Amino acid sequence: MHESHDVTVVGAGPVGLVLAAELALAGASVQVLERLAEPAGAMKAQGINVPTAEALDRRGLLPAAEAIQREVLERIGVPAPGADPARPTGHFAGMVLDADLVDWSDPDLAAHAVVAGARMVPQPQLEALLAEHVARLGVPIRRRVEVTALEAGPDGVVVGTTAGTVHTRWVVGCDGGHSAVRRLAGIDFPGTDPEITGYQAVADIADAEKLADGWVVTPRGAYRCGPQPGRVAVMEFDDPPADRTAPITVDDVQASLRRVSGTDVTLRSLRGAATRWTDNARQAATYRSGRILLAGDAAHVHPPFGGQGLNLGVGDAMNLGWKLAAVLTGRAPDGLLDTYDVERRPVGAWVLDWTRAQTGVMRGDAKSAAVRGVVADLLDTRDGTTYAVKQIAGVTQRVDLPGDHPLVGRFVPDLWLADGSRLADHGHDGGFLLLDRSPDGGFARLAAAWGASVVGVADEAPDRRPTGVLVRPDGVVAWATDSAQPIGLEDALHRWAGAPEHQPVG
Ligand SMILES: Cc1cc2nc3c(=O)[nH]c(=O)nc-3n(C[C@H](O)[C@H](O)[C@H](O)COP(=O)(O)OP(=O)(O)OC[C@H]3O[C@@H](n4cnc5c(N)ncnc54)[C@H](O)[C@@H]3O)c2cc1C
Repeated sequence: MHESHDVTVVGAGPVGLVLAAELALAGASVQVLERLAEPAGAMKAQGINVPTAEALDRRGLLPAAEAIQREVLERIGVPAPGADPARPTGHFAGMVLDADLVDWSDPDLAAHAVVAGARMVPQPQLEALLAEHVARLGVPIRRRVEVTALEAGPDGVVVGTTAGTVHTRWVVGCDGGHSAVRRLAGIDFPGTDPEITGYQAVADIADAEKLADGWVVTPRGAYRCGPQPGRVAVMEFDDPPADRTAPITVDDVQASLRRVSGTDVTLRSLRGAATRWTDNARQAATYRSGRILLAGDAAHVHPPFGGQGLNLGVGDAMNLGWKLAAVLTGRAPDGLLDTYDVERRPVGAWVLDWTRAQTGVMRGDAKSAAVRGVVADLLDTRDGTTYAVKQIAGVTQRVDLPGDHPLVGRFVPDLWLADGSRLADHGHDGGFLLLDRSPDGGFARLAAAWGASVVGVADEAPDRRPTGVLVRPDGVVAWATDSAQPIGLEDALHRWAGAPEHQPVG
């Protein structure tokens, strides 16, 4: 295998696919190496959060994601509790959040309502959608190629694989929780040890009436049935799995379900690939070691409570893709790549703690049960449920960036334009977006010095606020104003888009 590419992404999971697409859109030459011959198709993430859905939206993939949600809802029959397509909620430690209690007029929720129709996108369908996107962009995915060695030099990395050697300038490990890239790069993975064994599967259940619908917490663990027919998740709080890689049998899942539910429920068979998981919560000591970077589960692992892992990884990929591409194309301002770890580490640390907190209140002991009671009471309030729904949806995420406007550092909200389009409709090619509602088009005129990397979007609605917004390719607002003057815009462009192609005209 001798073909060389600027970036080699290891792993064609959801994170590797998003990263490869973002790199390609930004003009980098990229390939993906994947050890599996076919996608595993395992049932893992059942849905996506707002930043992930909005990332799909900005790349023109929202209609496809909405179609998947429609198909999922049709299969379920009726929307499950907390799965109202217009008002997605979720759960905290198995306590399903009541959509009727949520304050949907909360500004953070109301500002990101457009993607509500694309939140129930299960991981296998998402991966298929992303693989098509990557294929359209011409990125090769080389399957049956396992990375086994890395040798980093000052100008590049020699990658040893089961199919030969690859020379590349940068390597990104998107190779999951047991990341070989992380290990080969010598990056530490500190965190808290596991104490749970969990399974998720779709099963043919002989006597499903013996199990309750939804989440049930018992002194021995917790289980959940549905919302899809036959879908079961079960966890026990005694010990981590003795061997996480051993094949999962129907007896394993049935025995666990019987112990936790206290019934003699019978599973006839498992349909498709089941998953076994635990509550390891670890974060890489660094997301970058020279020319080797980590993203997704390779950079952080935690239990799957509340559906955060895939979203966290997609956020990493969106943040990293344009920055690494800018380095490769020579447009990156100093230190741009270092902002990847700085910006994504706090989100990862928050997710680890959000899931640890859930382990804490789900344990069957008396103290945990008491805390669970207190949390349940809080979640039974409008403020408590709204708080939890906002956290799970990802709408409170914020990057610490310079600037006074309240939008700066947030994911860009739904912004409708006078011509009926939305700002997101203009982001399909992956560049910076500049909304210009200045009376004389002055914002876009100034940004024109940065060439095609900044897409100016004029909106004939000068009375609307904000009057100007600069959105980075990852959807984060880098600059915003309510005034008619571009104060601070030029600094923001220098900071994120690098040097202009010619002198800006103010
Ligand atoms: C039961 C369960 C439920 C979950 N539910 C949710 C949820 O509701 N919401 C959510 O957001 N997240 C959820 N997650 C987490 C989510 O599935 C993961 O966070 C997500 O898959 C991470 O994506 P990734 O691309 O980083 O890694 P992975 O999906 O693990 O992909 C890594 C890829 O790298 C390949 N690979 C590994 N090593 C090598 C190598 N040496 N060379 C080449 N290729 C290699 C693998 O074959 C794989 O294809 C859940 C997880 C589990 C287990």
